[in-house]
Amino acid sequence: MTFELVTIPCLEDNYAFLLHADGKTALIDAPDSGPIDAELSSRGWSLDEVWITHHHWDHVDGLPGLQKTHSPIIRGAAADTERLPNLDHAYADGETFDFAGHEVKVIDVSGHTVGHVAFYVESTGMVFTADSLMALGCGRLFEGTAEQMWNSLSKLASLPPDTIVCSGHEYTQANGRFALTIEPENPDLQARIADISSKRQNGTPTVPSLLSLELATNPFLRAGLQNVKDDLDMSKESDVAVFAEIRRRKDSF
Ligand code: ZN
Ligand code: FE
Repeated sequence: MTFELVTIPCLEDNYAFLLHADGKTALIDAPDSGPIDAELSSRGWSLDEVWITHHHWDHVDGLPGLQKTHSPIIRGAAADTERLPNLDHAYADGETFDFAGHEVKVIDVSGHTVGHVAFYVESTGMVFTADSLMALGCGRLFEGTAEQMWNSLSKLASLPPDTIVCSGHEYTQANGRFALTIEPENPDLQARIADISSKRQNGTPTVPSLLSLELATNPFLRAGLQNVKDDLDMSKESDVAVFAEIRRRKDSF
């Protein structure tokens, strides 16, 4: 059975994703109805489901436009029903649902917002992380604490290394410039930055990315490593404290 993933650039630098399997189509996040509708029509797909990661406008504002011509069921976090669009199905951390014969697990990844969730499709090795774990980065801490985000990132980091990470924004090039300030000598990071530059020159998205590559290069996943702590003069500090310091530096980068 084929399982297709389509990445759709939306707005300035957002990504939405379509999953298509067994004649069913799901959309992950709805930044803008125009490009999503265009993609659906060009493929002749109707929209059956929308999975929402978090309440921010750049992930939900396309929904009313899509609902004019489609009647998808909407899935999202039970913890944030007051701020999310009306949900048909609301999930607590760890709950699962079925999509076209594939189990989808809802993982609480609070930090950027409280109630942000990721959707993990184990059978196809894909996780939709939006503004939690991002390509070479992580979302800003608008609502949650550094400890919440570190716990969220740690959950995602423990997924199989060959998991495809579908995140919400094309911020990778700027993230790379910052990552180099944390680990200038990391050869995997240097190689990734060269690859990002050539992709961006060709207008190719750098999202999705592989979890193994994030583990090797993303400074926010590497806060627990002794060499990173040593370089920041935080040798004896906790992983969370080092993560918080890296996040603080990025905020003012
Ligand atoms: Zn956001
Ligand atoms: Fe966003």
